[in-house]
Amino acid sequence: MNKNINLEKNLTSLELGYQAKGFVAFLSKDSSLNRVIKDFRCGYTRASSFFKKEISKVKLTLVYSREEMDSLIGYKTASWFVGYAGFSNEIFILSPSVFDKESNHSKRDFRKVLCHEICHLFIRQIHHSYEPVWLEEGLAYWVAGQKSRLRNSNPIFNNPKAIFLIDTRIRWNKTISSQPDVPYALAFLLVDFLIKRYSKDSIVKLLMSLEGRYSKKKFCQKFRKLYGKDIKLIMEEFFSIQNIKQEGGEKYVFRT
Ligand SMILES: [Zn+2]
Repeated sequence: MNKNINLEKNLTSLELGYQAKGFVAFLSKDSSLNRVIKDFRCGYTRASSFFKKEISKVKLTLVYSREEMDSLIGYKTASWFVGYAGFSNEIFILSPSVFDKESNHSKRDFRKVLCHEICHLFIRQIHHSYEPVWLEEGLAYWVAGQKSRLRNSNPIFNNPKAIFLIDTRIRWNKTISSQPDVPYALAFLLVDFLIKRYSKDSIVKLLMSLEGRYSKKKFCQKFRKLYGKDIKLIMEEFFSIQNIKQEGGEKYVFRT
């Protein structure tokens, strides 16, 4: 795996927020750089105001081909895969100059995808784990304003225990492989519900209260302490307001 792909690239430094700096690595001939910088700052500001914190030294690397992305990740990536947030405050994302050519996304998705990845960095600094996955992905979707991709989703599980089919990395991946859109849709809808029904502060507090390795039992206890109700009751409430048909094969109606 070649991790040194940026050696020949330029690196530009930029102010992101109070005492926060960002760096963008790019090809000097990339004409989309100004747009990237604008979107980078905008995504950072959005995440920073939601999570009420600053993070420093974000390094954004623009990737110029599917091959380069595969080499960074270490396996053949799917055509929807356009970026990811690494563990050292790094983000790798396809440059807008190749975004639609090297993926099945439209160029317009770039700004929101970038904000989504920036959110992962913020979340990771608050909670040093990636589980429960639904909370992390749902929050990144919510803050980035990524709603359109979920319209044709078809959640198959409409029972209060569904949340425990998308909590660990292993279970999330297993569900993704059988129902690709379902985990993201459900994660987003759950986070949206918790924010609208309760508050943004509660969900950030929940994230802050999670420490150490994820365990279903510990998570449920913390959830109950913060929301004053058993998570199963909240899930029942959530599913009761969704227009999910009980019978298999029916289309889920997304409500905006
Ligand atoms: Zn994500």
